[in-house]
Amino acid sequence: MTTTIERENKYTSGLYVKRPIAIVRGQGALVWDENGREYIDCVAGQGSANLGHCHPAVVRAITEQAQTLISCTEMFYFSKRAELEQRLVEAAGEGFNRVFLCNSGTEAVEGSLKLARYATGRTEFVAAKRGFHGRTMGALSATWNKKYRDPFLPLVPGFTHVTYNNLEELDAAVTEKTAGIILEVVQAEGGVHPGTEEFLRGAQEICRRKGALLIFDEVQTGFCRTGKMFACQHYGVTPDFLALAKSIGGGIPMGAIVIGDRIRALQPAIHANTFGGNPVTCTAAVAAMDVYEEERIAEKAADSAAYLTAKLRAISSPLIREVRGLGLLIGIEIKQKATPYIAALAERGVLVLPAGLNVIRLLPPLIITQTQIDKVAEQIAAVLEKPLAEEERKLK
Ligand code: PMP
Repeated sequence: MTTTIERENKYTSGLYVKRPIAIVRGQGALVWDENGREYIDCVAGQGSANLGHCHPAVVRAITEQAQTLISCTEMFYFSKRAELEQRLVEAAGEGFNRVFLCNSGTEAVEGSLKLARYATGRTEFVAAKRGFHGRTMGALSATWNKKYRDPFLPLVPGFTHVTYNNLEELDAAVTEKTAGIILEVVQAEGGVHPGTEEFLRGAQEICRRKGALLIFDEVQTGFCRTGKMFACQHYGVTPDFLALAKSIGGGIPMGAIVIGDRIRALQPAIHANTFGGNPVTCTAAVAAMDVYEEERIAEKAADSAAYLTAKLRAISSPLIREVRGLGLLIGIEIKQKATPYIAALAERGVLVLPAGLNVIRLLPPLIITQTQIDKVAEQIAAVLEKPLAEEERKLK
């Protein structure tokens, strides 16, 4: 064991399932550990490194801004914040007009829930089974998995969970007390399940008909991950709140809510935070927006996704049940627990993550090269060629 691993094991909260790899450097889709071992990183900071590690445009922006101004709360104005807000509204497209900035995905969700209550004067929410929205009390109340919820009961009252992609159930659950429906466009943590067009469009229609608001949690699907800037753009659905985080800042911690036209004017001070709209994060995010748009990252992601998905579907394996996803958010559902196979892949130089119990999830940086994709597919094919022996599974 190394000093870094020993130390973290001793002093860290203990709340994370960790892998015995200490990462020291990243470049593009690659990371290196402290022993100089190279990995293709299909974890990508859990989806926060869509532009890969240390993208030069982001590094330059952060470096310059850090030498000029690091702290400036929203009490004052700041040029790159103004630019970012405009760019996010424009990227979200018609139907959006304002932005609230924060620091993480759960905050973007939490803020959306609060603002939906505020805007409607109603208190209840409808979310989806298998959905994941974060760990703060409101976001956790929208999250489905009992493992995350049960230690913290009672949660915020008024949340109902319906079967994802079941429009009838959704319609029946929305009442005159419903402030909003909250959904992922692709359920990521819950096993990589894309929403159907009928369901997502239907959710919008129900909200309009019943006076509720639609919150799309695009924390994981945003910023070109699925082959469009935002996943809702595949479906032509315009939510009232677009909750964003992860890759918004090119890897720097940040969250945002893009707010729709139907939301009435918000009163100053009803919601706020200290670090949201920070100069360094806003500058990084503007630089990232430049790259997403100028380097046509969405198209690249769509092309790479088609290439990788075809390769994965061509793998002949007794273990694979289904390969599914949207863009470069890909799930390989297998017939056994995913974690031993994920460990085996790490030993072969490919980092991936689970989604639910038996899904191997790939979130590669969107700038991953074709050669790197070939290697990823090759190693997955090798690992899934046959089931691991039981002893091997236990060891991992
Ligand atoms: N919503 C979704 C869809 C997510 O995938 C995540 C994180 N995995 C969150 C919310 C929470 O984001 P954060 O960890 O930044 O709070």
